[in-house]
Amino acid sequence: MTIRTKLIISTCIQLALVGGVTVVLAIVLQATHRATARTERGTSINQAITEMRFITFENLLNRSDRSLEQWQAKYQTLNRILAPVWLDGPAERAILTTMVTQHQAVKTLFDRLETSYQEPMTTSDPKDVASFRERLAGQLLVKQQAQITEAGQLIALNQTALATQQIGFFWLVLGAIVLMLLVTAINARLVTTTISRALGVLQQGAATIAAGDLGYRIPYPRADEFGRLAKAFNSMAASLQQIDRTKSEFILMVSHQLRTPATAVKGFMALLLDGYMGKLGIRQTEALRAAFAENERQLGLIDEMLVVAQAETSEMILSHLPTDLDKLVNDIATAQAVVLKSKSQTVTVHCPKRLPKVPVDPDKLRIVIENLLTNASNYSPEHKHISITVQTSDVEATIAVADNGIGITKADQGKIFQKFSRIAQAGETRIEGAGLGLYLAKKIMMLHHGRITLVSEAGKGSTFTLHLPLV
Ligand code: ADP
Repeated sequence: MTIRTKLIISTCIQLALVGGVTVVLAIVLQATHRATARTERGTSINQAITEMRFITFENLLNRSDRSLEQWQAKYQTLNRILAPVWLDGPAERAILTTMVTQHQAVKTLFDRLETSYQEPMTTSDPKDVASFRERLAGQLLVKQQAQITEAGQLIALNQTALATQQIGFFWLVLGAIVLMLLVTAINARLVTTTISRALGVLQQGAATIAAGDLGYRIPYPRADEFGRLAKAFNSMAASLQQIDRTKSEFILMVSHQLRTPATAVKGFMALLLDGYMGKLGIRQTEALRAAFAENERQLGLIDEMLVVAQAETSEMILSHLPTDLDKLVNDIATAQAVVLKSKSQTVTVHCPKRLPKVPVDPDKLRIVIENLLTNASNYSPEHKHISITVQTSDVEATIAVADNGIGITKADQGKIFQKFSRIAQAGETRIEGAGLGLYLAKKIMMLHHGRITLVSEAGKGSTFTLHLPLV
């Protein structure tokens, strides 16, 4: 599934959730609104009955057409309010039904009382008439009192229902907010995790390729946008690798071609210096010696480029001979001791007594160790000490070259293994080089299925360690 589809789906889920929650909230809001209206209806009923009772009293005391009309009007109003709509359950329905019955009974009693004033009664005894009217008035007032009590019950019932509704509404809103936040957070996390994981893989891959490992391919099996980007990255790396290979092949060819005439020049200069072509004057000899030294440097550089190109074009085939590392390291140290002495530097070799022979290519490993030792000397002041320590474990043999020189900053430690990488460091006197030594060391160690590591601190010194696997 593409990232775009994922984003669309997650947005749809989000929208559906918001829509669903809005509908539920609207329904609950409507229900709360009805509960409020019911409570208000209860209050109106109560008010109307109380007023009717008051008018009943007035009517009994001083009967007037106005109070009669008012009573009738209130009766009609109450009739309308008592209509059983928006009921909240059987309890409310029961109260309202009783109230309607009571209301009709009140009307009947009131009408009978009124009739007793307007039509001549069967009995003409004023005492009987008065007691009849008193009885009716008493019943009327009792019924209205009962109605007031019922209205009170209705109000209490409606208020409880409203309170429950409001609490429910509050929790529902809270729940909806929490749910939406939760779903949004989960959604955001899922999408960002997918994106950041994919970006992490791409970034790490790009960094590895940028660090010079052009054979690295970004692993991204999914067919989404990142998969396509990884594919594009990988084909870019393949093109770069191809260009790099062509360049290395060109350097290899050129180095071969340069080496032959440079070696011939060296031979002729040696003949001249040795006097085979006649005696040379002092100035001529000096100039020739300088030319000889420059030619040696030129040959050294050509050789270095040749080895690097060989390592890069798979033309370097390792021999993997069982090698005595103790002897190899001591040979190198002895050979370089003279050069170190010119800087008043010393070198010591530490080796375990019984060291097993390790399957390596001694000539290629020699190039690496010589390079590390030369660097240790070049990047250390005079009178400093260099140590070479050989160790073995069950899985690997290590050769560590440690100096107390100028050291390398953390920022530069990642750069110095790249091709043609030279660092202008504090405390460094101008040292000539092409920035190929450590790059070649890394390549040769990789061909041995090993690696080279560095521990260094600016101003304190560096330790380069070669790790050679034994299994
Ligand atoms: P070069 O042959 O030109 O010296 P290298 O690849 O051997 O190139 O070294 C690359 C850079 O690493 C050097 O320019 C130097 O700044 C740094 N470097 C190498 N070895 C040391 C060391 N032992 N101490 C401090 N800096 C070092």
